[in-house]
Amino acid sequence: METIRIPIIAGDGTGEDIWNASREIFEEAVIKSTGNAKKIEWIPVIAGLKALERNDHLLPGETVDAITDCALALKGPLTTPVGGGFRSVNVYLRQIFDLYVCMRPIHWFKGLPSPLKRPEAVDIIIFRENTEDLYRGIEWQAGTDDARTVINFLKDKMGVDLKPDSGIGVKPISRSGTQRFARWSIDAAIRMKRRVITIVHKGNIMKYTEGAFREWAYETAGTYKELSAGDVPDTIEVNDRIADNMFMQVISRPEDYDVLLCPNLNGDYLSDACAALIGGLGVAPGANFGDNVAIFEPTHGSAPKYAGKDIVNPTSFILSGAMLFDHIGLAGTGEMIRRGIERTIQEGIVTYDLARQFEGVKPVPCSEFGAEVLKRL
Ligand code: NAD
Repeated sequence: METIRIPIIAGDGTGEDIWNASREIFEEAVIKSTGNAKKIEWIPVIAGLKALERNDHLLPGETVDAITDCALALKGPLTTPVGGGFRSVNVYLRQIFDLYVCMRPIHWFKGLPSPLKRPEAVDIIIFRENTEDLYRGIEWQAGTDDARTVINFLKDKMGVDLKPDSGIGVKPISRSGTQRFARWSIDAAIRMKRRVITIVHKGNIMKYTEGAFREWAYETAGTYKELSAGDVPDTIEVNDRIADNMFMQVISRPEDYDVLLCPNLNGDYLSDACAALIGGLGVAPGANFGDNVAIFEPTHGSAPKYAGKDIVNPTSFILSGAMLFDHIGLAGTGEMIRRGIERTIQEGIVTYDLARQFEGVKPVPCSEFGAEVLKRL
């Protein structure tokens, strides 16, 4: 029997609950879908708070080595303190492995609650640039010497007058960063036989960052015309929308949208907003891709107030695992997991987050939901 080695970061807060509810589903699905030809060997690794508690680095060397070695990882949510404390380990992981594409499929299936009249129209893949923009983490706290230095520089050299008590952040978006992201995402859209690509930006206001993102993404799309002699451009339409309009459009006309290419910050906001159309963060999976490594993780965070209570929804994590199996060529395993989830939800077996969106549905705990999916593989 062949062994598939998968590093697993269970994560903080509700991460352990979700991992415990999901583990057997992955193991069983691999064995069943491959007819006993493959099995999983988990490599448990840590990052963030748990690593700090062990007096280690936020991202220990053994975690980095395991992920590099296997070229992938499955990851639960990691807590980031707001305001002070350490910087996001999620962002750090994306930077250290140069995971420049974040992919978040927003797909409604029967049984999921939705605020929309026709939720079946929602089948959108969000691609979010993952390494640049304000998420690059270049910022200086108000009142510090560093912030004063930047404020003085802007005043003396650039003629820009800022309030002296300003905090400062920098928003870098590069041509090379945008184009590699656009190329990866358009290639994926072609592989997935998608029909419309929409570039999302706030280029009317931030002309040289978001506006340039739009221009460079169009440039990349244009190269397909030359390379493929009319093959791809005839079948895929490329257009663009200003970000604020996009938030309205995904609610009012979701059927018009198929693949969205977003800069980092807009993509982050839009993923959570779109998750609300298909039941919420508990069912929204995701993956981060670079040239050498891919990390699969749910869209949601560690929801600390629910940690250890066995009530949150493991679906987003389980579906992220299904994306991992698609990625390593086990599409049958991914499909088996997705069908198991769909059947469970269609039979009205749901956790609290979905149950409260219906009338008279009693929620099951996180662990019980996992056990029910396992039965339906
Ligand atoms: P969150 O995603 O943890 O929670 C937002 C809302 O969604 C809450 O109401 C929560 O109860 C609900 N929710 C989240 N996961 C759910 C699930 N599986 N099932 C049902 N409901 C669920 O976001 P937050 O409260 O803004 O952040 C909490 C912590 O998570 C912060 O430290 C933040 O930095 C971190 N975070 C991590 C990631 C990541 O690891 N990739 C992503 C987002 C936030």
